[in-house]
Amino acid sequence: MSEVVSIDFPQQDSFRHRVRVLLVDDQLIIVEAIRRMLVAEADIEFHFVTDAARAHAAAAVLRPTVILQDLVMPGTDGFDLIRQYRVDAALRSVPVIVLSAKEDPKLKAHSFAVGANDYLVKLPDALELLARIRYHSAAHISRLERDEAFRFLRESQQKLADANVQLQKLAALDGLTGIGNRRAFDDIVQREWQRGQRTQKPLSMLLCDVDRFKLYNDEFGHQAGDLCLKKVAAVLTEQLKRPADLAARYGGEEFAIVLPETDLEGAMKLAEACRARLAGLALEHPCSEAGMVTISVGVASLVPAPEHRAEDLIASADKALYAAKAEGRNRVRQG
Ligand code: GH3
Ligand code: MG
Ligand code: MG
Repeated sequence: MSEVVSIDFPQQDSFRHRVRVLLVDDQLIIVEAIRRMLVAEADIEFHFVTDAARAHAAAAVLRPTVILQDLVMPGTDGFDLIRQYRVDAALRSVPVIVLSAKEDPKLKAHSFAVGANDYLVKLPDALELLARIRYHSAAHISRLERDEAFRFLRESQQKLADANVQLQKLAALDGLTGIGNRRAFDDIVQREWQRGQRTQKPLSMLLCDVDRFKLYNDEFGHQAGDLCLKKVAAVLTEQLKRPADLAARYGGEEFAIVLPETDLEGAMKLAEACRARLAGLALEHPCSEAGMVTISVGVASLVPAPEHRAEDLIASADKALYAAKAEGRNRVRQG
């Protein structure tokens, strides 16, 4: 008989990890005797395998909480099997009780040397066998539960860290347009201002304001106005080339673009590209000067220095924007 046979006693739900015994012994008479010792124990599942060649695979599938291991089996040495369990990551920590035919100090010493946890002579007393099965299984189960708890904790910590990163990203985004919000703009400006002081590279800024947007809302409604703002945001984002560039919603229908390490000439080019691209879409806006949705853009550029503040750069861009409005809108002016 070489089948792996499982005898499942009624499950008890209260045991998350049940005591699961795998007996590896070629003699059916021993299997039967052990089975009888365990049959009345509701918390113990009993499985056995008589073919030593299948013992390792059976253990890997069953994941017993304790293995009862015969030493002398046809074709296989019980010691070799124990060594195999010990080098298998899935079985390394499963307790092994040797069921030996003899009370022999050498066999006993060798059993422990190859990784057995206990040694009993066949046939053991039922009370003693049960006590050892329960003792070793309980130790194994608490190890498993501890490992599970650690894994769960690690996973929860990772999830929390991921959620925090996600939350921080969301907290920096504008809900309507999906680009950076005012907070992201303020953070970036301060950070780039500091960095520019160290690198002495120019920091440029664009302030873009939708022309006659109040009239657009009046004409087409607030929802259409929202959609229009999304389109403007997309146009601005589309023009950015470098990863460090940031487009943000500065407020209402005003957008800002921060361009680190960019001089006035480069910023003016980008501003003109944004203006022209939006005008090129020819989004209908009959009440504006151009008859379509347009932006006016104020551009400023500074090499950050201690005698200036980032706010000076913003004020300069704002002044330029005012000039662009005053000169007829749908144009770019520099501060
Ligand atoms: P100008 O050419 O001088 O910039 O004129 P304007 O009408 O665009 O400027 P104004 O500041 O008078 O009006 C801005 C309008 O933008 C008023 C406000 O209702 C609208 N607006 C601001 N935020 C939003 C928004 O989130 N959605 C919509 N639909 N409209 C908005
Ligand atoms: Mg406006
Ligand atoms: Mg405005």
